[in-house]
This record gives sequence, C-alpha cells and structure tokens, in this order.
Amino acid sequence: MHAITKTKPVPFLDLSAQYKSLEAEWLAAIRETGARGSFILGPNTQALEKEFAEYVGVKHAIAVANGTDSLFLSLRALGVGKGDEVVTTPFTFFASAETIDMAGATPVFADILPGSLCLDPASVRARITAKTKAIVTVHIFGYPTEMGEIMEIAKKHKLAVVEDCAQSFGALHNGKVVGSIGDTGSFSFYPTKVLGCYGDGGMVTTHSDAVDERIRRLRNHGAVKPFVHTEIGMNSRLDEVQAAVLRIKLRHIKDDIAGRQKVAQEYTQRLAGSPVKTPSLPKNGTHVFNLYTIRVPKRDAVRQALTDAQIGTSQCYPQGLHLQEVYKHLGYKPGSLPACEHATTETLSLPIYPGMPLDHIERVCEVLLEAVRG
Ligand SMILES: *Cc1c(COP(=O)(O)O)cnc(C)c1O
Repeated sequence: MHAITKTKPVPFLDLSAQYKSLEAEWLAAIRETGARGSFILGPNTQALEKEFAEYVGVKHAIAVANGTDSLFLSLRALGVGKGDEVVTTPFTFFASAETIDMAGATPVFADILPGSLCLDPASVRARITAKTKAIVTVHIFGYPTEMGEIMEIAKKHKLAVVEDCAQSFGALHNGKVVGSIGDTGSFSFYPTKVLGCYGDGGMVTTHSDAVDERIRRLRNHGAVKPFVHTEIGMNSRLDEVQAAVLRIKLRHIKDDIAGRQKVAQEYTQRLAGSPVKTPSLPKNGTHVFNLYTIRVPKRDAVRQALTDAQIGTSQCYPQGLHLQEVYKHLGYKPGSLPACEHATTETLSLPIYPGMPLDHIERVCEVLLEAVRG
C-alpha cells in the first residue's frame, strides 16, 4: 500500500475537469454572444429550447431562470393555487415542496418506496382528498419514478402531474425520457446536476400548447406583448451565455450519462456481498446517477470514517421534509412516514461524476468496506 495514495483526498465532485475540456467552445460562445449583443432569451435560448424538446420528446420546452422557478411556473400554469393540495414526496430537496407553498397551495407528503426512494403509489392514493389538485413526483438521484400507477391515480382523480426532473435529465422510463410523461417536466441546470450550466438555469417541458403559452407569459411578467400585462408573472428568463453552454453540453450528454453509469457500475461491483445496500436499478428504465446513494447501518460512523480519510460525501437527505421546522403546522410527527424516515437514517451519497478516476472509486470502496465491517 502506498502511503501517498492512502492520503489522497477524493472530492465529492470535480466540475473543473469537464470545464477544461469545454473551455474553448464556451469562450467562443461568450465572444459570439457579446458580438451579437443579445443577452437574454435570444437565438441561443430559442435553439436550446428546440434541441431540448427534441431530446426529451415533447412539443415544447420553455427556458427559465432556475429549477425552482420551473416547478413554481409549472404549478401556476397548471392552475394550482390557494386552497389546493398537492401530493409530493418528503424525500427530496426542499424546492419540490417549497414551490407548492409559493403557488399558494399546501403540500401533502406521501411516503416513498424503500428501493427507488421515489413516491409510493399506494401512499399517494391514500392521501388524495377533494382538495387534491396535482401530484409532484421527484425522480430522485436519477432514478425514474414508476409512473404507470402515478398517471393512473392522476387520471382517475383528474389531477395534474409535475415531474421534478432536476436530478434525472435523460433517464428513461418504459422507453420515454422523463419529463415527457406528466403534464410538465421540470429541470434544473444548477452546476451539479446531470445537465448543468455555469450559473443558474432551468427548463419546463410540456406537450400542451396552452401550458407552453402560459409559462412563456408568466416567465416574462405576464406580458402578452411588450407593456401589455394580462396577469401577474415574474422575471424568470434564461440568459444567452447559459443557453450557449447548455447547447454545448447537450451535444456531449450521452457520454456524460454513460460516464456516470460506468462509475456506478464500478461501485456496485466492488460493494456487492457487503453490508452496503447499493442503489436499486429500475426494471423498465435507466438510472442516470446524478447521485450514487447507498444505504448503510451506522451511517454516521461510516460517513465519519470517509471524512477522516478525506473522502467527500453528502447526506441526501438528513430529514424528511414533513419533519422540517417550517412544516410543523402540517402536523406530521416522527413515525408519520416510516419509509422516508428510515431512509434518512441510512442514506449516504458517494462521490460521482463523469470521468471520476478508477483509483478514487477503489479508495472510496476500500475505506467504506473497512468502516462497515469494522
Ligand atoms: C436542484 C433541485 C431543485 C431546484 O433547482 P434549482 O435550479 O437549484 O432551483 C428542485 N428539485 C430537486 C429535486 C433538485 O434536486
């Protein structure tokens, strides 16, 4: 064993390596944008919207300022508002629920399935009331939600479905790309996502002409034409420089996703037969591994061992959203959503990004296996 290898830090993420490989194309795009003098919702954004819609397999894609806005604008365009309930998962980033409140509605948390960590359809069904207006399902970590039953429930109760695809760009479900199954797909281009830009960005996808039209209006102050406002909207637009980098990255995305899947496969092979529970794989689709999240007993001690060995990890997610301070008034108690709560005590996300060096993967597994067995 080489002492140097042993102490080499393993970062959770390395965004600079990919940046370097794209730097020349990116700088050329900035120069071109500057020379054109069109900085917001210009030709790059229009081209990106078209290319994005083609990739996902939808009629429309509308570029917005970030993923949070793409959720909020989806809900508003689908008519969610005051007095409505929206069923969602507690095992997600806060924005998935926060935007339901921002739209004036109330989040209702259903439990998750222990394998996929996505919404449990049976629990969703049990939470439907006369006030339910929509379901926000989150394809968490890159695992596509089993959409069949979710869409059936929605159809039966006439509910809208928003797919939160922030972590799952390019994931397939029954041959469809996520974001093309529900009423809208919501995407984030935060730099750490599967498809990330060099700042903030987001996208909404939809098959519906009416939803497309409404979101285009809402993202630009509710204006139907310059200085004519028919409703209260907001400023949620994508800038040309971010659209340019996204167009460049979209051309490489299949390799990036394959790169993530390769890292995941290397981990899963090495961790097989150990007390570490590796991520489940969808039966009818693909996992794009925005995060590689394992489940381990004594998670905190295991995480500490990795930290001590200078290995970056993340605890996605430390708490179910139903138990967050801000949602105290909703009345959930520890034990309300047991599958989610159990997951929050065991989940640990390991370093993953396209092109992650094999010796880093090996180092993570070595320290991890020692920690779980020790
Ligand atoms: C990142 C993320 C968001 C929010 O996206 P932003 O671009 O950061 O606003 C929403 N939902 C999920 C599941 C996310 O991971």
